[in-house]
Amino acid sequence: MSRSTSIDLEDFVRESEEFVAAHHARRTAASAREAVSFSVLPEKPAEVEARELAEALTWRRTTYDAGFGWIDGPVEHGGRGLPSHFADAYRTVERRFQVPDEAYTRFSVAILCPTLLEHADATLRAELLSPLRRADLVSCQLFSEPDAGSDLASVRTRATREGDAWTVTGQKVWTSGAHYSQVGLLLARTEAGSRRHRGLTAFLIDMDQPGIEVRPIHQMTGGASFSEVFLDGAVVPDSRRIGPEGQGWSVIM
Ligand SMILES: Cc1cc2nc3c(=O)[nH]c(=O)nc-3n(C[C@H](O)[C@H](O)[C@H](O)COP(=O)(O)OP(=O)(O)OC[C@H]3O[C@@H](n4cnc5c(N)ncnc54)[C@H](O)[C@@H]3O)c2cc1C
Repeated sequence: MSRSTSIDLEDFVRESEEFVAAHHARRTAASAREAVSFSVLPEKPAEVEARELAEALTWRRTTYDAGFGWIDGPVEHGGRGLPSHFADAYRTVERRFQVPDEAYTRFSVAILCPTLLEHADATLRAELLSPLRRADLVSCQLFSEPDAGSDLASVRTRATREGDAWTVTGQKVWTSGAHYSQVGLLLARTEAGSRRHRGLTAFLIDMDQPGIEVRPIHQMTGGASFSEVFLDGAVVPDSRRIGPEGQGWSVIM
């Protein structure tokens, strides 16, 4: 449904209330406590995670199609073009209802899309922003490595250019949601012999390919929301490079 891009805030809040109320029950004191109890991806059994993921993706698509999925986003990329306080007002409305957990799409919405808006070329922005905001594509963050956690500038995963594509070899760890993501924002060392923040490049790599193996890290609480990700000859086209070669640190920060 196409919604107005010129609307009074009060009318917008009323419209938002009607929309969310048509799909979800209001929060009770008990459901509010439960929602506050996890601020990151919760560790849950696989079948619970699969159900919640499906609900979260369906809700993102419903909100997007109704004009509430990217309220302050650029109209040319499927956003509604309203000022950011309208998006804040919508979030306030949503918090009063028992909507699906947004953690499953938070990386796409809060980190990847703003990064692409700022650093990706026009072709990539046109190709990726709308599917990411609508959760037709789910993404993960391929930054941390066994020896590059807090000290991220120690990244050792290598990407080597061969013609129009890069071949990637290395290991990532603590990747949230890797097992259900279709794409990952990858930080890799592209300049041989470079040190620290220099010589790193950012890419958006397809997760479903022979050169990538995702191994879930099973927690004693029963869940496995984090994974190790092994890249062994994984391929990413140069057209999926985000920002200039060697400038990956500025892109991801
Ligand atoms: C909920 C959650 C989700 C995450 N999701 C992702 C993800 O999707 N993708 C991803 O790439 N990463 C993810 N991470 C990993 C995260 O970004 C960090 O890389 C990771 O938490 C660092 O852990 P490490 O085991 O490498 O710790 P280390 O970096 O080895 O640190 C171990 C301890 O030493 C301390 N320490 C380190 N350096 C210093 C210093 N110089 N001085 C004093 N103390 C120091 C740290 O504070 C910590 O207590 C996630 C982490 C969490 C907690």
